[in-house]
Amino acid sequence: MTDTDDRLAVSVAGYLIKHDTDVFQHEEVEDWIHADIETFEGLSPSQRDELTREGIRMVRAHIFGDRVTKQARSLEALRSRWPRMIIEGAEFSLGPGWVPLLNRAAQRLDTYPSGWCALLRGAKEKFGCLVLHISYDRDERGSRSEVERLREEIRLTSLSICEACGRPGRLRMAGYAKTVCDRHATEMGIVRDEDGLYADPWTWAEPDARPSRSEAIVLGARSLQAFLADVVELEAEAETLEGRPRELLKEYAGYLVDAAKGAIVKTEYLQDYVRGEVAGWPDVLSHHEEDREWLRGWLMKMILAEYDRARRKQKLSPSQ
Ligand SMILES: [Zn+2]
Repeated sequence: MTDTDDRLAVSVAGYLIKHDTDVFQHEEVEDWIHADIETFEGLSPSQRDELTREGIRMVRAHIFGDRVTKQARSLEALRSRWPRMIIEGAEFSLGPGWVPLLNRAAQRLDTYPSGWCALLRGAKEKFGCLVLHISYDRDERGSRSEVERLREEIRLTSLSICEACGRPGRLRMAGYAKTVCDRHATEMGIVRDEDGLYADPWTWAEPDARPSRSEAIVLGARSLQAFLADVVELEAEAETLEGRPRELLKEYAGYLVDAAKGAIVKTEYLQDYVRGEVAGWPDVLSHHEEDREWLRGWLMKMILAEYDRARRKQKLSPSQ
């Protein structure tokens, strides 16, 4: 079996070298690995299927791993370039394609009067756009309008740049919203009817209005519904929830979906990822630890369902 494992590793490496690993081409990776495994001797059809699935899993892990590393490296460079502009412990949750926008923001903060005490405290992808978290002294004359203008400028610019790679992109609507280029749009799965109708998610409800808390909850509920639609067991479990868990699921539906869809980390980093995500949700720190524990547990279930869904999308439902 070790021989077969080695050969599989060679197949996977061959795929990774030949292809643009920045894009996950579902059909192509399946065909490639499958064709290569056909040349392995002495395997039953179900062993070949099993091996093909494992190969696809390995390709995915490599691509996602690369992307996470790339992003970590560029954020590190950002911090060392602007040590005075970015607070210690600033939290960033966004794809590598948008790191240049953070650079631009930090550069601008550096030009503000020192009395404003303007600092970048973090940034996050939200509804497909980049939202900056900036602290500053609001009582300083002119500070408020300028900082708000900068935040809006960066947010609007992010809606034209692929979050994954930095190429020109637009807002896409699938099970969730993301701003990506044509190539990365293929990773999002089935697009919704609304795709293309909105250039700016903050105008979904009415012109010039950002989603209010209640609108965000409605949007969250819709995306949770879409998420659970083909995860039968989890959907059934969600139906039976009562009391506090039911409230929490409603309140954080959108965050749970975003975090589950965005979990592109290797399994060994999942616990940390889950902990970090939940800690960053609004008001979550004012809830009981018990609530946070429940949210972490539920998020983990959704992530595992999402991983499973990704595997099933390979159109490799077990043949045995
Ligand atoms: Zn892209």
